[in-house]
Amino acid sequence: MLRPLQIDPSKCFIAGSWVGALSGETLPLVNPSEGSTLCDIARGKSADIDAAVRAADAALAGTWGKATAAERGRMLASIGRAVLDHVDELAQLEAMDVGKPLSQARADVLALARYLEFYGGAADKVHGETIPYLDGYTVYTLREPHGVTGHIIPWNYPMQIIGRSVGAALAMGNACVLKPAEEACLTALAFAEIARQAGLPDGALNVVPGLGAEAGAALSAHPGVQHISFTGSVGVGKRIQQAVSANVVPVTLELGGKSPQVVFDDADIAAALPFLVNAGIQNAGQTCSASSRILVQRGVYDQVVEEMSGRYAQLRTGPALSDLDVGPLVSLRQKEIVDGFLAKSSDLQIVAQGQIVDDAPAGGAYVAPTLFAGVPPGHTLAQDEIFGPVQVIIPFADEAEAIAIANGTDFGLVASCWSENGARQMRMARALRAGQVFINNYGAGGGVELPFGGTGLSGHGREKGFEALYGFSVLKTVAALHH
Ligand code: NAP
Ligand code: MG
Repeated sequence: MLRPLQIDPSKCFIAGSWVGALSGETLPLVNPSEGSTLCDIARGKSADIDAAVRAADAALAGTWGKATAAERGRMLASIGRAVLDHVDELAQLEAMDVGKPLSQARADVLALARYLEFYGGAADKVHGETIPYLDGYTVYTLREPHGVTGHIIPWNYPMQIIGRSVGAALAMGNACVLKPAEEACLTALAFAEIARQAGLPDGALNVVPGLGAEAGAALSAHPGVQHISFTGSVGVGKRIQQAVSANVVPVTLELGGKSPQVVFDDADIAAALPFLVNAGIQNAGQTCSASSRILVQRGVYDQVVEEMSGRYAQLRTGPALSDLDVGPLVSLRQKEIVDGFLAKSSDLQIVAQGQIVDDAPAGGAYVAPTLFAGVPPGHTLAQDEIFGPVQVIIPFADEAEAIAIANGTDFGLVASCWSENGARQMRMARALRAGQVFINNYGAGGGVELPFGGTGLSGHGREKGFEALYGFSVLKTVAALHH
């Protein structure tokens, strides 16, 4: 039991009730700070997904489907307040499950509550248009829910991604089936219980934990699902896009990146420094919008390398509940991936590393934060998403070279420009290939109100802000002839 929410993590949440997977099977959930098993979770499969989709359908035909936009908004706002009532408990669960330092997990709870507040307030403010047309016609548009929406989410920011995806989908009147990641699903389950206690009608939200190849694949291919929102890896994203094509439904893909921060000679280096480092090591670098490439103009290159190195040397890595700068990676499997990249770096120069504290448990998935400098832009460490606490510094000569390097990967999620030159800021904002560009800041993980999403292998579709509400609804045009 997870107290005081009193949920049994080995159950799925379907039609407002806690039920075991139909197969009766479970999977162990690992605490990556120690390598120990935290609890068992349900191993949902296609039969459980099927039950969840039917429950969502029933919700659309029942109370939830009949709720007005204002009622849905009020419901989300109440769930948001209830989330805040459980802030400590949710932060603890997320920290233990994901391995993220407690204060970062706490920030994620606050972000979840903020998403619910934002989408609660926005639910009745999505208006249609009236369109001038032929003589005798009145034409207007309606924004209607897709119906049942499927949400397949990763392990790195479960609460934030639930907020931005389930929050927006519920605001528009959809009914959701959520498949959290096998590595981290406790806060998804706790959220379902909080929503139930706050009065969310049965079936409006269903949560089915399980393996991606089983529960995830079943959800993405289910003919009763009218929209899929996926956050995760490029490889799985491609499979999901194929799976939904059989049913011809829309899909939103958030697939990570290799996001650059570009530092020019005229930048305010002191202001940039905390952003340069934090955007790379937050959540141990396991952030889709992590800034893993730092491009620095030659005039300030030595200074930035030295000052970033100084910060890295002070970084401490240890158990999530010790709340240091960096926690373990989510799993030993993820550590293997990151170690694999580090093994390919013998030709590169490590300029600084953080330390792993002495009392970090031996079975934990710890990787010391590592900073490389002088990295050729085409190197695998400068091209591929590592998803660990690893950053590369790349020198450049002028603006044209900076743009070529910044845009020279297959990704395009987030980018930033550090410069005090206003005209350059505007040119860079246009030139950088990314869904979000920050000028003299870097908003990794933040910005509930700001549309977010990628281009290229970073995916397509936008979440967050009002854009998400358009994505989670379908436009209907009504043309009435009245003479
Ligand atoms: P992933 O394998 O893409 O998993 C994301 C979600 O998709 C999980 O819920 C996963 O379930 C599910 N899934 C896996 N295979 C599926 C399938 N065939 N059909 C439907 N759903 C499926 O990502 P990951 O293993 O968690 O992380 C691996 C890499 O993905 C990372 O190294 C990183 O590069 C990237 N990533 C990106 C983001 C981002 O925010 N853009 C977030 C996390 C990871 P299970 O995990 O339960 O199997
Ligand atoms: Mg876990």
